[in-house]
Amino acid sequence: MRRKIVAGNWKMNTTPAEGKALIADVLAKVGEVPAGVELIVSTPFTHLIPAAEQLANSGVALAAQNCANHESGAYTGEVAPAMVAATGATYVILGHSERREYYGETDALLLEKTKLALKHNLAPIFCIGEKLEERESNIHFDVVKTQIEAVVCQLSSEELAKVVLAYEPVWAIGTGKTATSAQAQEMHAFIRSVLAAKFGKQAEEVAILYGGSCKPSNANEIFAQPDVDGGLIGGASLVAADFIAIAKSF
Ligand code: PGA
Repeated sequence: MRRKIVAGNWKMNTTPAEGKALIADVLAKVGEVPAGVELIVSTPFTHLIPAAEQLANSGVALAAQNCANHESGAYTGEVAPAMVAATGATYVILGHSERREYYGETDALLLEKTKLALKHNLAPIFCIGEKLEERESNIHFDVVKTQIEAVVCQLSSEELAKVVLAYEPVWAIGTGKTATSAQAQEMHAFIRSVLAAKFGKQAEEVAILYGGSCKPSNANEIFAQPDVDGGLIGGASLVAADFIAIAKSF
């Protein structure tokens, strides 16, 4: 049995006070979530310390949305993995398409970040996914395979055991346009086959989340696919009722 995970990616939203209220709303409803479904919330850096205190003993895990590829030093504006881990966060989202697209994050940089995060006991939620023009040119499988081989396939099996993958087709993120459940399943099964080529049977144990306009009305059908193990939720994670409704969609 693979893990079932619903992770909220708040992106650059909420003041610290709004974030505190959102976590309180999530915690008020967390009892509705079926046993065995893991919840993760990913706040901005500024919220991590109070969020970790608020989430203590709740069973809801905390993630950062990024971390640096260096241990410490003269890197103005960056936040080291050790600093993130010291807040109480146990996950970090890496490789999100917004980081790749707007901040020029390359596969090589993402491998450095992933390795360093793992060294500091942060479990990466590693994002992969193709752009619209790549799907339209029918190279989406190649694009995703390259992203996986450049980072995830460079890890040891001990490291892979801590990684969660998130398939997020870029054309579905924040657009209201979700991949069909068949498109999600097809790509998730492909991702698992790429992992299996390197890691063998261990590929069956890796949780692969779907992300991109996932909401209460479509989560059920997507999560029902055999290779979809949950969701990475952007917009809908900013409304506690929607986030919890999605977590109840398995
Ligand atoms: P969305 O974002 O749910 O708002 O499409 C998903 C993500 O980017 O992680």
